[in-house]
Amino acid sequence: MTSLSPILKQATPVVVDRAEGSWIHGTDGRDYLDFTTGIGVTSTGHCHPKVVAAAQQQVGQVIHAQYTTVMHKPLLELVDRLGGVLPSQLDSLFFANSGSEAVEAAVRLARMATGKPNIVVFQGGFHGRTVAAASLTTAGTRFSAGFSPLMGGVQMAPFPYAHRYGMSEAEAVDFALRELDYLFASRVAPNDTAAFLIEPVLGDGGYLPTPDAFLQGLRERADKHGILLIVDEVQAGFGRTGRFWGHEFSGIDPDILITAKGLASGFPISAIAAPTELMSKAWPGSQGGTYGGNAVAAAAACATIDVIAEENLVENARVRGDQLAEGLQRIAEKYQVITDVRGRGLMQGIEFGDADGRTGGQLATAVQQATTGQGLLSLTCGPLGNVVRLIPALVVSADEIDLGLERFGAAVAEVVG
Ligand code: PMP
Repeated sequence: MTSLSPILKQATPVVVDRAEGSWIHGTDGRDYLDFTTGIGVTSTGHCHPKVVAAAQQQVGQVIHAQYTTVMHKPLLELVDRLGGVLPSQLDSLFFANSGSEAVEAAVRLARMATGKPNIVVFQGGFHGRTVAAASLTTAGTRFSAGFSPLMGGVQMAPFPYAHRYGMSEAEAVDFALRELDYLFASRVAPNDTAAFLIEPVLGDGGYLPTPDAFLQGLRERADKHGILLIVDEVQAGFGRTGRFWGHEFSGIDPDILITAKGLASGFPISAIAAPTELMSKAWPGSQGGTYGGNAVAAAAACATIDVIAEENLVENARVRGDQLAEGLQRIAEKYQVITDVRGRGLMQGIEFGDADGRTGGQLATAVQQATTGQGLLSLTCGPLGNVVRLIPALVVSADEIDLGLERFGAAVAEVVG
């Protein structure tokens, strides 16, 4: 008899029968409020009628043509639609299937365009699970232990994790930028550095917004030394933070932007965007792949962009995100073991600290599991696993946020007492 590999770590025992909007209906007959959205993917909610219609229509027209063999209309349309939401300098695009592939593609592009080897990443960053993406990931040793050698040319600098360091945000930014300069003086010459790779909000690494001043500091150093700034918007992008792109808060212009997850509401597609001039420095044929830019996924992505605009979902993410953050703060005030609540928009993390001999990681895992029992799906994150993250769909309603808060509060009470 075959079974699923024990190599997988299952966050919940739920088997989904069907799903709509913010809800998952389990084969156990229960309804779950889904604050995981397939790890930040089903941006327009489960099975949004317009996304479903676009995908169904496309399935009957052409499923796969391979866009470097035969171009197809949905992808040309998607290039056009993305032009309406991307920073204007990022006017050249290509596509892959997943976040990891897009990260690898961006790194290859940065190395080819600059002729330099090193990529500087920031502690706690998550960039994927393929060998190169895992080499760039510092959100937990579980993502890279046991299959060395990893890709070379990766240097890690501290992330301004103010809460962990017991510093103000300004102090943490100052510390992290000084350490970056020290890294440049001590270990990796800026002239040998192709790119900085950073998430606008650390995702799997703990749901930590990257301070605006830190991104601005990276931009300054990038300009000074001819280093490219790559923003990994795979989790924080596409409206999730209450702005279309997570880096917008800081006002910086990235050189390369990577997007995936929320881009197509659940269909596998990712995109890499950069100025044409930068893209032209890599040779034609240096990127590609069999399935990248699939026609059905591209049609679903076009519908996703339309729905986000028509239903004002970026604004909804901001307003509902504030509601969620305020409710979580109220819960946190009641419990010493909740040491921090933070996030941007519909990307909120609740950090747990040690109590009763239990570590923050044990507490967060217990709370995450208890939420399932309460009818709310959540996930943990952070290298120590001590953060519960809530990632509702961008279509989430005020009532659903209130219900989610009620269920989250009940789960904490169940675990902590
Ligand atoms: N970058 C970020 C910021 C992510 O959150 C993820 C996925 N969690 C990835 C890259 C990798 O994406 P994928 O799982 O689609 O390969």
